[in-house]
Amino acid sequence: MGRKIAVIGGGAAGMTAAIWASRSGAAVDIYEKNDRVGKKILSTGNGRCNFSNEVMGACFYHGSGAALADRILSQFDVPRTKAFFSSLGMRIKDRDGYLYPASDQASTVLDLLRYELARKGVEVHTGEAVRDLSYDGKQEKFLVSGMRARGCYDAVILACGGCAAPNTGSDGDGFRLAEQFGHRIVTPVPALAALRCKEKFYKQVAGVRCDAKLTLFLEGKPVRVERGELQLTDYGISGIPTFQISGFAARALQEGKQVVVKISFLPDFYEESGRAFFETRLREHGEDSMEIFLTGLVNKKINQLLLKLAGIRESERAENVPAEAFQRLRKLYCGLETEVVGTNGFEKAQVSAGGVDCSEVTETLMSKRQKNLYFAGEILDIDGLCGGYNLQWAWSSGAVAGREAAK
Ligand SMILES: Cc1cc2nc3c(=O)[nH]c(=O)nc-3n(C[C@H](O)[C@H](O)[C@H](O)COP(=O)(O)OP(=O)(O)OC[C@H]3O[C@@H](n4cnc5c(N)ncnc54)[C@H](O)[C@@H]3O)c2cc1C
Repeated sequence: MGRKIAVIGGGAAGMTAAIWASRSGAAVDIYEKNDRVGKKILSTGNGRCNFSNEVMGACFYHGSGAALADRILSQFDVPRTKAFFSSLGMRIKDRDGYLYPASDQASTVLDLLRYELARKGVEVHTGEAVRDLSYDGKQEKFLVSGMRARGCYDAVILACGGCAAPNTGSDGDGFRLAEQFGHRIVTPVPALAALRCKEKFYKQVAGVRCDAKLTLFLEGKPVRVERGELQLTDYGISGIPTFQISGFAARALQEGKQVVVKISFLPDFYEESGRAFFETRLREHGEDSMEIFLTGLVNKKINQLLLKLAGIRESERAENVPAEAFQRLRKLYCGLETEVVGTNGFEKAQVSAGGVDCSEVTETLMSKRQKNLYFAGEILDIDGLCGGYNLQWAWSSGAVAGREAAK
């Protein structure tokens, strides 16, 4: 007879772990605190579920387990993930390497996982928040206690997620369970989140979306550059390039460091080319008022804001603007500095960075503190960039933990 396994947490990682454990011969129970499994999957990719990416590698992951992630991902890689979902019945859509279900419905991914759980006879206990998990060394069994359901198991897979989007069920519960077995938790911080900034001017430009390059400075040092569609909000910055730097910013803030982002609204220009561009424009349109002179450069609200910050009136003729003021303006277009004071919080974050310290888990995702206790998904101190990387981690770590726990 196969092993008896409990998976705690019925999210992307937990369901995948349960499927692979049962495919490997184990009898599997899932304990899920929500009244249904996979709630978070439904909100991924704006309801379309960007479940993976053709461009994969260690550089897309961060945390104490970034290198481990790479090795786990190679055991259950993107082709295997595609084959897995295809075998469940999913047609796949490739948008410039970003992978989605062809239905464009995240619910497709969840439904296919649910049907496979049922096919494999996995017992799904919903409405069962596990608060108590203990190990009986004599019997070599885990005792799992939910609200009503309970059971004895040969192995347990903790797949409770992190702290992001707690309305979907992941609120740090899993960390407390891991701590009961002596695991160190790297303090979780929101990642893939919008950033709150100190300046008061954001209300003026709220709602603007534009192509921009963001450079993240920690204690004055540039550490990360991202380009893409920036969204300006009434409290700061959002959009994909902001998400990509947000985990680093959040961690630095948690460590008490100064966090500054330089926004280039002219991302194709560098210092010299930016100067040349403005000089040419001045030669050609110097007689215009600054309002007209700047029209067509970027979004009008940004022109207005940067003029104000440079201390130049809109009605001023471009050729009459003093050289220093013009230089100030040019610098603002190529690098408006904004001080980051916080993130939008776990409620609005897509993932949390931090979690179970990966130096305390083996290459098979088993705890080094407790034999037969495994981890999968966001509960581990591994977070990916935006673009399908976090779900790929959930599938890969789930498959590996499930297969290993069943051995
Ligand atoms: C709005 C949004 C959009 C996203 N879009 C994408 C995207 O397009 N592509 C991408 O790759 N990633 C995306 N992500 C991130 C991705 O969804 C997560 O990284 C991934 O779902 C994590 O899977 P998980 O199974 O580890 O954790 P979760 O999905 O958080 O699942 C953990 C489960 O454990 C349950 N649980 C927790 N504690 C207990 C307990 N004590 N007892 C029982 N059950 C418990 C929870 O209820 C939950 O169901 C997005 C996230 C959000 C919030």
